[in-house]
Amino acid sequence: MTAPRPQATDDLSILTVRLASPRGFCAGVERAIRTVEDTLSQYGRPVFVRHEIVHNVHVVSRLAAMGAVFVESLDEVPSDRPVVFSAHGAPISAHQKADSRHLVKIDATCPLVLKVHNQTRRHIAAGRHVILIGHAGHPEVIGTMGQAPDGGSITLIETEDEASKVSLPDAPLAYVTQTTLSVDETRGIIDVLKSRFPDIAGPAKEDICYATSNRQAAVKATAPGTDLFVVIGSETSSNSVRLVETALAAGSAKAVLTDGADSFDWSLCDAARSIGVSAGASAPEELVEAFLTTLAKKRPIKIESVETAKENIVFKPALRLAS
Ligand code: SF4
Repeated sequence: MTAPRPQATDDLSILTVRLASPRGFCAGVERAIRTVEDTLSQYGRPVFVRHEIVHNVHVVSRLAAMGAVFVESLDEVPSDRPVVFSAHGAPISAHQKADSRHLVKIDATCPLVLKVHNQTRRHIAAGRHVILIGHAGHPEVIGTMGQAPDGGSITLIETEDEASKVSLPDAPLAYVTQTTLSVDETRGIIDVLKSRFPDIAGPAKEDICYATSNRQAAVKATAPGTDLFVVIGSETSSNSVRLVETALAAGSAKAVLTDGADSFDWSLCDAARSIGVSAGASAPEELVEAFLTTLAKKRPIKIESVETAKENIVFKPALRLAS
């Protein structure tokens, strides 16, 4: 769907705000946050969480205030307290370690990440060498790399250039992808792989999740012609960073990521006549509302909604609460 370009009004003081939809929380993030809340209500505080449950500073501090303790190593989890695994997924070794310590483990891995884990394990079991397209060091990539029992059946690539040069074992090949990549860049990488290795196995569509694709499509429709594009989300959030890149590629003059109204550089809006606004999949809608409320106190605004899809996906809870 192509949305019309922003219609700046004749009154130069009025700022046109184009609000991208869908934006903000996805089903996997809602489920993960609820998992921590449910675990707190079932087991009391503290509840330990392996890694930030989702990549958003506001969400993490709210849950920390409720009694969640975020740790990077399972060694930091006392044996008598439950541990929640984050939405990004974990390597097999982390599950084994929690099990060997008999920890109460609640897995909030997004079902769409689990789907990639399952595909990866199936390919390896069928004797294929797996190419993972993703960003080195991201927890989801660490979790997917950790699905190989010997650690050696997966090669990570990040760019088209790497896809064109990577040397691989002499074995049947398959590819999987991180769920929160740029749709356009990933398509280019897959095209290079398919041209080099015509028999490579892969998903019918890349593994980029519905939420990432929908948010990028909404930003593509919202950004053209805007003077500034504001993505609300944290620096650690891969899908939020991709939205900034998408806005620039789609024709916004400038695009920035912000954790919210409190830390935003409001001088960026001074000379703008139209701005676009979206939020990453881990950013709560309250942050968008607070941003717009603060903006409206600084300048008169006219809001245009640009909706490219409706979402109604809900995942089953990870924890069945005892009644
Ligand atoms: S961004 Fe996609 S993969 Fe990640 S939690 Fe949300 S739905 Fe799941």
